[in-house]
Amino acid sequence: QSCGRSMFSIRQLYILVALGYTALLFIAMLMLRAFWFYPQEVEQALYIQQNEVHSFLVALELRDQQLSSLSDDYAIWNQSVDFTDTSDPEYLSDNFEPETFDTQSLAAAAILDRFGKPLYYAGFAAEALIPEPDYLADWLTSDSVNFMPDNQISSIELINQLPHLVSSSAIRLSDESTDIHGWMILIRRIDAEFIRILADVSRLQITLTEPPYAAAFSNLRMPIKDVQAARSGCITNNAGAASLCVTIQHGNGAGPSLINTPVLLAFLLISIIPAIIFIMLLKVIIDPIEYALKFLNQNNSSGQVRPLIFSKSPHVKELVELKKAFNQLVMTSKRQQIKLERISNTDRLTDISNRRAFDEALDKSWRRIQRHPQSIALILVDIDYFKNFNDHYGHQAGDSALQQVAKALAGCTRRTDEIAARFGGEEFALIMEAEDATALNRIRQRMDEAIHSLHIRHDYSPASKELTVSYGIAWIRDSGPWLEEYEMKVWLRAADAALYEAKAAGRNCNMLQILSRDVPLTESPVLQQLPG
Ligand code: GH3
Ligand code: MG
Ligand code: MG
Repeated sequence: QSCGRSMFSIRQLYILVALGYTALLFIAMLMLRAFWFYPQEVEQALYIQQNEVHSFLVALELRDQQLSSLSDDYAIWNQSVDFTDTSDPEYLSDNFEPETFDTQSLAAAAILDRFGKPLYYAGFAAEALIPEPDYLADWLTSDSVNFMPDNQISSIELINQLPHLVSSSAIRLSDESTDIHGWMILIRRIDAEFIRILADVSRLQITLTEPPYAAAFSNLRMPIKDVQAARSGCITNNAGAASLCVTIQHGNGAGPSLINTPVLLAFLLISIIPAIIFIMLLKVIIDPIEYALKFLNQNNSSGQVRPLIFSKSPHVKELVELKKAFNQLVMTSKRQQIKLERISNTDRLTDISNRRAFDEALDKSWRRIQRHPQSIALILVDIDYFKNFNDHYGHQAGDSALQQVAKALAGCTRRTDEIAARFGGEEFALIMEAEDATALNRIRQRMDEAIHSLHIRHDYSPASKELTVSYGIAWIRDSGPWLEEYEMKVWLRAADAALYEAKAAGRNCNMLQILSRDVPLTESPVLQQLPG
């Protein structure tokens, strides 16, 4: 979160990109569909529906032709021509009996003279003839019958407020003369049964709409403009009014939709891809990175530098290398830490432990000997007449002498708990284990020998011809919890007092102060010069 710039996590960034990708894909798919596939599908659906309307019209046409040929049969017949002249009732009883209507499925029949005046008309309903019904008289004298001039014509007409198939043929002699003697009109009722047969023939689901019909309607003979699941439309009579209205159930339903199940399914499949990538990314990259980050943060807050260990080795090369590099850095840091620690605990000139390390060791020993009974000596060492040495042999020679003494004293330590350190200037301090007086004496001898064996000439020392040291020993015998009532500096002060006494006694010697449960510490210590 630097410079106030907004930051995203990989997770957020990925989700953003994935959402953008998905949205873009969806829009692209929609565009492709809207401008390419969808119009084609609509055109196809329209074509199918137009064909269905057409097959309904063809089926109707077939029925129409059937009736037309029947009316022709009656009209082009010499007996019919005779009837227009004689109105012979025998002709009627021979040809227009109830059985005739029944077998030919006729709802009505009419014969007009050459001027269009009705000579005969009858209806047929419920197996019975209805001579000259009013509704038929009304229709025969209406404008609707004005189509008669043609030789043969058929139409769908509303008669008695019901749709009927009407076929009219000119009555002529059968010798093909063109003289018209009248008109033979056969009428077939278009009812539910009629429509059912049409539906069967055209293999469509068609239902008849009951009249009266509205003035506004869609003409089934006109090309269809849109895709509809159920199409209501009408057929007109010669006067242009709706005379038969039906509803056609289209086989292909409402047609295609812009967004349908396959489109959604395809989209879903395509959107699964970024989701799968996300899960893989999560497992392979984001999870290890987040784990490593958490680990580093823990390191930071605890101030520890620990190597990074993944519970499962990452699969990404860069992450593995990052881990390796980091762990190498940890190793380097550890090595430097160890080096630094060593340096900070080492005296630069003499290369033995410094005052800092000594103070720590003294503190540790003090606490340890309270818990674990032990006999232990603190020895302060001071070089005799060292100012003189420096003054006459030079500072560099003094440094060299200091280094030799330090090395000799360090060589006197044996156990891991023991330490020899430069206490400051030309003073040294040692902590040595000495379980009894004999052991303490051995240490003293070891130190004497170590210094004497250096044979550093010191012509300006009143004590000896060679460089000598004086030391004060504070020996704690049989330590234990009894020490708890003392402070640590008492131990140091006792050693210092012993050293002072050694200097006072003429130098090149040592003094001992014993601290034990039986000999309580006092301000004036009991001093004892060790033999030798
Ligand atoms: P005494 O026997 O009473 O201890 O006499 P002394 O001269 O040793 O004691 P004093 O304290 O008078 O002098 C200590 C000298 O040690 C003074 C100083 O020049 C010398 N000295 C202290 N540190 C160093 C050092 O790091 N290098 C050298 N070359 N000399 C040092
Ligand atoms: Mg001194
Ligand atoms: Mg000195």
